[in-house]
Amino acid sequence: MTQLMNDRVQERLVRLRMPHVALRLDALLSDAARHDWTFLEFMDHVLAEETDAKQRKRVTMGMQIAHFPGVKTMDGFDFDFQPTVDATLLRELSTGRFVANHENVLMLGPPGVGKTHLAVALGRAMVEVGHSVLFTTATALVGALAKAESNGQLAEKLAFYRKPKLLIIDELGYLTFEKRTAHLLFQLVDRRYESGSLLVTSNLAVTQWGRMFSDEVTAAAMLDRLLHHSYILNIKGDSYRLKNKRKAGAVAPASVLNQAP
Ligand code: ADP
Ligand code: MG
Repeated sequence: MTQLMNDRVQERLVRLRMPHVALRLDALLSDAARHDWTFLEFMDHVLAEETDAKQRKRVTMGMQIAHFPGVKTMDGFDFDFQPTVDATLLRELSTGRFVANHENVLMLGPPGVGKTHLAVALGRAMVEVGHSVLFTTATALVGALAKAESNGQLAEKLAFYRKPKLLIIDELGYLTFEKRTAHLLFQLVDRRYESGSLLVTSNLAVTQWGRMFSDEVTAAAMLDRLLHHSYILNIKGDSYRLKNKRKAGAVAPASVLNQAP
């Protein structure tokens, strides 16, 4: 009789897509007996078992889909080393409200100050709160759009990059764009405008973007959409990559390097 009922419960759990409870049912029942759980407590533990497992699975899948270039976290960022990074703003951004509101984030600063680190850390935080994220570099993105265009599949590619709630475009500015590729990027920014968030990192100040796009009009139109609802993190400081070398006296501090004529 008990075995029959047990089989029936297992079957129902599978039909309800609660495989974790199905696996842990015996343990949950003995815990309930041992701790003298009320019916409500038992229900709470059963549901927690499944929702926690589903959340873990969702986060794991979200991290894979995002294609982050490595594991970087907010906890792993040394805010004392980089005092111009607005830690309060990053904490606010980490809540995910900017993604819910379709707002953008720009992280600007010289090489090595932690732009990619913070972009990945913020991206991971977004996956954890339940937003879909995709990480790409500007070079890879523009390459994919240009290839799609020549294959007659631009619309599909633009739709693909429009889908994630947060699209991270890393390293804009290392490469200059021809008019045609600049326009492809503009189309993407335009599609996502007020419908999805962008996080862009760049080593160039916003005022220098015109040069990067070899087309002031496209640059201005793109910036207009990007900046309309946006948060800007301006990071000014020394490269973390050179930190230890500087300590050893092998490299001059950024303040000295920047004084080149
Ligand atoms: P950027 O993208 O601005 O060129 P990165 O984010 O790639 O710089 O940083 C270079 C390296 O230094 C990475 O390994 C990164 O994790 C590390 N890093 C940079 N800034 C910090 C920091 N403040 N605390 C800890 N690690 C840092
Ligand atoms: Mg970088």
